[in-house]
Amino acid sequence: MNAVYHFSDGVEDRDVLGNKGANLVTMAKLGLRVPPGFVVSISAYREHQQTGQLPLAQIRGALELLEQRTGKVLGQGLAVSVRSSAPVSMPGMMDTVLDVRDFDHVVSCIKTVFQSWDNPRAIEYRRLNRIPPDLGTAAVIQAMVFGDQDERSGTGVMFTRDPSTGEKGLFGEYLSQAKGEDLVSGRRTPQPLSSLAEQMPGVYAELEEVASILEKHFRDMQDVEFTVESGRLYVLQTRSGKRGGRAAVKIAVDMTKEGLISEEDALLRVSAEDVRALLHRRIDSPESYQPVARGLAAAPGAATGIVVFDPQDAVAAMRRNERVILVRPETSPDDIQGIAAAVGVLTSRGGLTSHAAIVTRAMGRPCICGAEEVRIDLQRQRFEAGGVTVARGDTITIDGSTGHIYLGALPLTEAEGTPELAELLTRADAARKLGVWANADTAEAVVLARRFGAQGIGLCRTERQFNAPDRLSAIREFLLAEDSGQRAKALEQLRRLQKEDFLAVFRELDGMPVIVRLLDLPLHEFLPPEGEITEPALRERVRELKETNPMLGHRGVRLAITYPEIYQMQIDAIAEAQAEVGANVAIMVPQVITVQELLWVRRMLRDRDLKVGVMMETVRACMRAGRLALVAGFFSFGTNDLTQAVYSFSREDAEKKFLNTYLEAGVLRDNPFQVLDVEGVGRLMETAISWARKEKPRLEIGVCGEHAGEPQSIRFFHDVGVDYVSCSPFRIPVARLAAAQAAIEARRREAERGAPTAVRPAA
Ligand code: ADP
Ligand code: MG
Ligand code: MG
Repeated sequence: MNAVYHFSDGVEDRDVLGNKGANLVTMAKLGLRVPPGFVVSISAYREHQQTGQLPLAQIRGALELLEQRTGKVLGQGLAVSVRSSAPVSMPGMMDTVLDVRDFDHVVSCIKTVFQSWDNPRAIEYRRLNRIPPDLGTAAVIQAMVFGDQDERSGTGVMFTRDPSTGEKGLFGEYLSQAKGEDLVSGRRTPQPLSSLAEQMPGVYAELEEVASILEKHFRDMQDVEFTVESGRLYVLQTRSGKRGGRAAVKIAVDMTKEGLISEEDALLRVSAEDVRALLHRRIDSPESYQPVARGLAAAPGAATGIVVFDPQDAVAAMRRNERVILVRPETSPDDIQGIAAAVGVLTSRGGLTSHAAIVTRAMGRPCICGAEEVRIDLQRQRFEAGGVTVARGDTITIDGSTGHIYLGALPLTEAEGTPELAELLTRADAARKLGVWANADTAEAVVLARRFGAQGIGLCRTERQFNAPDRLSAIREFLLAEDSGQRAKALEQLRRLQKEDFLAVFRELDGMPVIVRLLDLPLHEFLPPEGEITEPALRERVRELKETNPMLGHRGVRLAITYPEIYQMQIDAIAEAQAEVGANVAIMVPQVITVQELLWVRRMLRDRDLKVGVMMETVRACMRAGRLALVAGFFSFGTNDLTQAVYSFSREDAEKKFLNTYLEAGVLRDNPFQVLDVEGVGRLMETAISWARKEKPRLEIGVCGEHAGEPQSIRFFHDVGVDYVSCSPFRIPVARLAAAQAAIEARRREAERGAPTAVRPAA
């Protein structure tokens, strides 16, 4: 078995040589000055792992050849380094031994390097980066060069572009008269790479050429390790460079313009994470500040504000135009207004799937969860962390991207997006098939959605409007009315208010279509708590409306059957507002289980020309998709409720009580409320879509659950023929990118399978 490969053999397979080894071979082939050496392959690692044996004869032969080529003898002028080389780069995680000078020692170092695959640091790194634990590593044996030889020697690291801005041009550090380890260990403070341009302009020019050659070959930004020995440049390593979101986008766009990569490759290279990171505010040079405590990075972005502990305080502060950070042990659905009013949220309990985390992510608010070091005293309105006490009204800064909590107001950098992002997303729009719409309940949200590039409003909910104080009293009057006269008066009042709401939303559409969903809330949610009511008749009425299990109770279209006046009022208000501003409006009916319900609501249109569609969120609706399609103007999958229904999980209880344990134990791979469960919920959707399209091939089908903004789920929606996704405005850029990636990947898969050859029509 051939287990040893010289760089000069020209084998470049990273599954054999590992990443570092393969790239050294490539660089030697490209004519760069690489100290000579050879690789003991990954299959030798496997053999060693099983038998404890190394291919000693081959190693001895390879070392002899190395001696011939360098004209030096091991131990007398020739020393080697023994370096790890895994198929996936794991910087600094495994062992490297330098200055090895005799055969036996080389052998023992190869063993050390092989064993370091399983050191705790490497194991943890693989776990975090989802690198398979059985890949294994090769060992690179390479002639040493010496950066500490004389004053014309040194060592450095070079990025071919700036890893945080993406700006083209060399970026890096250089340490004169030093070995590589001195730089990596941080023992000595290096100079910016530009200092080399003055010290040794020839070497600097050579580095620029190296950068250009490597980028042309690898078609990506490179992170290069080099050593200068007595004025001669040696390249010791190259790999594709890690970069921040902003740089990732700029590099991808610039490289298309430079002709290095195709537009499609540029779209595939940028990740949803990159775009997300780019669109959030962040702390300017966070390394200069000491956090007082840490929690989980639950929703990205940084925010500065004054501390409040009560959601009502947050609302009041917002009205005074104050920026507040809401600090709570945990949040519940009751706190939603307070969360919306705050610029950031900090909780001492709860994980990444806690209520606070989910809600803030959807809203685009920074959030830190589960900061257990933060001890909150709600009574005294203060918290204690890292030995300091922070009282209500004090200013803090939270970084939801790192989970760090700081005292005081730190300077924040605005997330403006970049011209390159706009360019990339324009290309994404051209590449994608899925439409990207937004969920927006208010005129402000519609404006935001438009700014992010939404093509329509796929879900405009009406619950929020009812919860505003003036409306709340009107709906209460309706529900508690003692006679039909009183009830009609309350309804008329509601109709006027709703019409105003719709007018405000419709006016901002600017040509976009909008889907208004009729009311979907258990009625008792509009009523005051039983205990607060003194009037016995009223209390009785509230008790009547109360439900044991409201989630599965008297909500959605069921209200239309029992209280037709409410939906009728909403439909009238929508129609009147539409008549006034001429918007492209459709109506969506929630919680439908049968076509009879849909027909019932359609009758309320009274010949008005409005499209009525189904929010597909019950299992029965999916099972009856064919029949429903015949009557429905469109479908929109409400994947949140559908997931609850398919799992028989109440989301709130699941996330509070057992979902984390399920995830930690590996019983479930992902939280199904975040990443669409393709195998269960997805299968149901796929079935429903195929039945529906059989009856009505052009039926418009959207998705408006939280999954509509999640990249993995978006791929699935593309593949099953959904027409558009409708997500929170903040997620639109990510959705545009993910939709393009889904389309490109599907096209490539198709091409790989061998696209069916077009049949020429008969003449
Ligand atoms: P890692 O995979 O952790 O980056 P490396 O194998 O790159 O480890 O080794 C770390 C450092 O050791 C290199 O950056 C380089 O500075 C130094 N080094 C390795 N091999 C040589 C060599 N042949 N000559 C000089 N320095 C070397
Ligand atoms: Mg290295
Ligand atoms: Mg729902």
